[in-house]
Formats: sequence, C-alpha cells, structure tokens
Amino acid sequence: MSFNIAIDGPAGAGKSTIARRAAEELGFMYVDTGAMYRTIALYLLRSGTDMEDEKKLRLALDHMNISIDYQDGVQQMYLNGENVTGLIRTEEVSCMSSRSSAKPPVREKLLKLQRDLAARYNVIMDGRDIGTVILPEAQLKVYLTASVEERARRRCRELLEKGENADLSEIEKDIRERDYRDMHRKTAPLKIAEDAVYVDSSDMTINEVIGRITELARKRMGSADEG
Ligand code: C5P
Repeated sequence: MSFNIAIDGPAGAGKSTIARRAAEELGFMYVDTGAMYRTIALYLLRSGTDMEDEKKLRLALDHMNISIDYQDGVQQMYLNGENVTGLIRTEEVSCMSSRSSAKPPVREKLLKLQRDLAARYNVIMDGRDIGTVILPEAQLKVYLTASVEERARRRCRELLEKGENADLSEIEKDIRERDYRDMHRKTAPLKIAEDAVYVDSSDMTINEVIGRITELARKRMGSADEG
C-alpha cells in the first residue's frame, strides 16, 4: 500500500517549496494540485468559457485533457498534449484558478486524477482539500499556514527577487481575497482536517518546517511497518 502525505493550507504558506523538498528527502513523488487547477484555468481563459453556465463548463471540460509527468524531478503540466508548465504562474491565471476551482465540475475532473496518483505512488500532495476530501485516509496530514502579513512579505520578496514590481499592500489584499474564496466556497472549502498536524510557519525557517514534516512522516512510516 502506498504512503500518502497531505499538505493543505492557504496561498503563500510555502506549501509547494516545502512539500517538494520534503518529498526529495523521503524519496516520495511530489504532486502539486494547485498546478492542475491552474492548468484548467488557463484552458478556460483560452477558450473563453462561460464558467457560470454549468452545462457549457462541463462540455468545455469534456474537451480538455490534463496530464502530468516529471522532468528531472520537476512536475510538468500538459494541457491537451501541450506542456504549459511555464504559462500557469501569471497573476491572471492565479486569479482565474481561484475562481474556477470553486466550481464542482472542475473539482470532479481532478478528483480521480489525484486519487489515482496517490493509490499508485508514495506521494506528498499539496492543495486545499487533500486531507479533507481527496485523501481522507492519508497516513499524515499537515495544515501549513502563516499569518497573512508574513505570507504577503514572502510573496513580495519573491517578486522583487525576480525583478518584478511588487506592492505589499496590493499583495496582502489579494491574499486576503484568495483566502476568503478558498475558505468560503461551497465545494471542498479550505479547512483544517480533524486529524491534521497544525504548523504555523510564520516564525519558522523553511528547513525547520521540512524537518518537522519529515520527522513526523518517518515516525508514522515506522509505526506502519510495525503494524
Ligand atoms: O496552490 P496554488 O496557488 O497554485 O493554487 C491555485 C488555486 O487553485 C488556489 O487559489 C485554489 O483556489 C485552487 N486550489 C484548490 N484546491 C487545491 C489546490 C488549489 O482549490 N487542492
């Protein structure tokens, strides 16, 4: 049986960096589910689909094929066969993915893909509803968060390092809006699974968070072997 680790939390908590590095240390596959929602968002933007019309949305999604593979350990996203990995990190796609991920047909489309991966491989999967909806039986669940101010500062630093413009108060506002949408949508809202370990990374380094997760995982893998 595969060993699954679910990491959920709000935007900008550092989930993907931490999950990727923890996966490397543990020899697990890292699955970034946000990238899947972003890929669907790109498709919806390109096709100009009216998301508010559920029939049209379902029809559009029927014509869309999404798949992943790994190149040098980095997850690649394919949209109808085209590698779109480099196209899904724009602000436009971020905003669209936050809106379209609230739609049930979008979530249904990804549920099977995510569960199949977790059934076949030892995975660390990060997202918003992994521990609560996608993998309720995951052997380890972590809810990773940080204060809005700290997440905004981190995002601002990231953008400045890339040489892009960044306005801290705009970023903070954007994060608050995304949090609100993720936590208040009807389908699979972001919430803390009852059996999740709560980690607030506001005052922790990345290495400290990775250390905490890998230690928890090793302990649980040990007890799974004994059982
Ligand atoms: O994590 P990331 O910011 O890349 O996710 C993009 C968007 O996809 C988020 O704003 C969130 O609304 C959505 N998402 C989700 N469920 C997941 C992963 C991401 O709803 N499991």
